[in-house]
Amino acid sequence: MTAAEPAASVERRRPIGSAPDPRMATDDAIVVLADVIRIYRESDVETIALRGVDLRIKPGEFVAIMGRSGSGKTTLLNLVAGSDRPTGGQVRVDGIDLARADETTRAEVRGRRIGLVFQDQNLLRMLSVRENLVLCGHLAGKRLESGDVDRRLDDVGLTGRADHRPDELSGGEQQRAALASALVADPPILLGDEITGELDSVTASAVLDVIEAIHRAGTTVILVTHDPAVAARADRIVTLHDGRIVADRAPG
Ligand code: ADP
Ligand code: MG
Repeated sequence: MTAAEPAASVERRRPIGSAPDPRMATDDAIVVLADVIRIYRESDVETIALRGVDLRIKPGEFVAIMGRSGSGKTTLLNLVAGSDRPTGGQVRVDGIDLARADETTRAEVRGRRIGLVFQDQNLLRMLSVRENLVLCGHLAGKRLESGDVDRRLDDVGLTGRADHRPDELSGGEQQRAALASALVADPPILLGDEITGELDSVTASAVLDVIEAIHRAGTTVILVTHDPAVAARADRIVTLHDGRIVADRAPG
């Protein structure tokens, strides 16, 4: 961390709902995890999911998080999403200290600054794709007109599917509709957990094309994945093992 930083980059981060903290104004990363520990406690059982994770992600990076099942990937993503708090250490996203922020601030970060694509969790089954997008827009404080929805569905290759309910779509189409919902707020950060896990390779590749386009447009992308085809498209592959980062490298 350095003391000097251009005013423009401090301005860019504008913390929501909290007074600026000088510690937050002194780095160029959009996601910072510093010595993050997450211990789950259930009655007598303790599980240490993260054992001191340090990770800095720059704006516009595309990072794949890999590692065996149980290595802590989803735990890490939930912390970045502000859905969970660390037991120890710091998590800062877009300048906001999520370990200390109250629920209102964290909800605002989730709604406006982060697009979340988790397997199977994004679309409400009883709503059409159009209604899902309008609802996501509403939660992010955006009013989407019918033409906006159509344009956003065109962007993910779902032209003409707006009035279908999710279970009338194929797996790949559902994943693209979920992506479109996650991107309604035009968030600076997109997080995904195993988004291609249940797709055939052709469909997975089409979904990844959309993500790559979003990345090229400047969005920071963090994807948890087992899929080498996903990792190959990333700028950087971070590997977790037993709650620790054991590798951090470029693909190939
Ligand atoms: P991954 O996504 O890499 O498979 P997770 O982050 O889901 O790993 O889990 C890391 C460890 O934490 C595992 O041992 C898992 O069983 C445990 N764990 C995850 N979530 C919870 C929870 N809500 N309560 C208790 N233990 C959990
Ligand atoms: Mg997981």
